Amino acid sequence: MTRHDTLPAGKAVPPPLAPPRSISIFGATGSVGTSTLDLVRLDPSAYRIVALTAHSDAAGLARLAREFSAEVAVIGDPAKHECLAHALEGSGIQAWSGPQALLDAADLDADWTMAAIVGCAGLAPIMRSLLRGRTVALANKEALVSAGALMIEAARSSGATLLPVDSEHNAIFQCLAGGSIDQVETITLTASGGPFRTWTTEQMRAARPDQAVAHPNWSMGAKISVDSATMFNKGLELIEAHHLFPVGLDAIRILVHPQSVIHSMVEYRDRSTLAQLGSPDMKIPIASALAWPQRIATQCLPLDLATIGQLTFEPLDNDRFPGPGICRAAIAAGGGAPAILNAANEIAVAAFLGGQIGFLDIAAIVSQVLAGYSPPAPQSLQDVLAIDSEARAIAAAAVGTKD
Ligand code: NAD
Ligand code: MG
Repeated sequence: MTRHDTLPAGKAVPPPLAPPRSISIFGATGSVGTSTLDLVRLDPSAYRIVALTAHSDAAGLARLAREFSAEVAVIGDPAKHECLAHALEGSGIQAWSGPQALLDAADLDADWTMAAIVGCAGLAPIMRSLLRGRTVALANKEALVSAGALMIEAARSSGATLLPVDSEHNAIFQCLAGGSIDQVETITLTASGGPFRTWTTEQMRAARPDQAVAHPNWSMGAKISVDSATMFNKGLELIEAHHLFPVGLDAIRILVHPQSVIHSMVEYRDRSTLAQLGSPDMKIPIASALAWPQRIATQCLPLDLATIGQLTFEPLDNDRFPGPGICRAAIAAGGGAPAILNAANEIAVAAFLGGQIGFLDIAAIVSQVLAGYSPPAPQSLQDVLAIDSEARAIAAAAVGTKD
């Protein structure tokens, strides 16, 4: 078996499951989670909801759990347990709380699991789902950045299937359908360039959180929106692609494409290049993963190329956007570097959103933490979580020096 056997393109396509399909959604109250539930709303009888999870919005989670008649609702923050239990009184829906409950929810049988918790907080439940051999639709890129090799190995050993949801990776897996990874010459990840694509470094030095989260094309959660502004998002996606599509790091490229119409491209050895196109709406890649190996109708806007008129492309400016280069160096270095990078970035982004540091401090802090901490290569989930925790502490101290 190759690493690619965890992906749909690398294994036999199973027959479609008879409805209703049982599904669990981790991160149900977030941007990806609510888009997934919007698709379920289009055909509710086709699905049975097992578990819905959220971090702290107990009222919002309870509302969704009641609407979709979930079996279990899990709130990550244990302090919100009473609130959730009260909101679910009389519904027959179980109210669980805390990090262990997220793992217990992953133990519940489900045909399809959406992994849409943001950050490394989603890693342990994803690992549990993979070890149970589930079909996991993966939105949470930070988990793959921190523990990619362990996740791919867990999926391989249990026979789990990973369905990429990140729009670029979903595009690549659609372009690989019917093709073989061995025949791929290069993979091109497209990048919108984010809200600061045309800004100078001096302008970015003064960038405010509200400007950074105002993405020109995509509507997303705050953390990934800031990652798009720094372009660390594209670097995290480079690492994500490296694990999902083993063509070699040098064969994975980044191309700025401001219209976000081409979501990524695969070039085969005969120089034929396949691209996946669509409106910039996350419901399209989510629907592709939700229906796989079939297709479902969505209410997304059709692609209207005549109105768009022009698709343009430009190279990445590594001087103004050091993030992707830092990510490429971290995955090339291997060991604990990607987990350190991810943890430092999570802390720095939160500090920027909280007004504690400036926009350019994000990359500076990530580089500083990477340079100052080199633990032995992680061998287990526990090792990754320990590195994550230590890197967060070092990054938090670095934030303190920027105040
Ligand atoms: P979001 O912030 O909108 O939602 C995050 C969800 O995770 C919420 O339900 C929240 O309650 C939950 N959560 C947060 N911290 C948690 C914790 N400590 N424990 C348990 N649950 C927790 O984020 P999003 O934009 O939906 O992104 C989710 C993931 O999908 C991220 O990894 C992101 O990179 C990835 N992704 C998102 C998009 C997008 O368009 N939003 C696109 C591609 C990939
Ligand atoms: Mg993406």
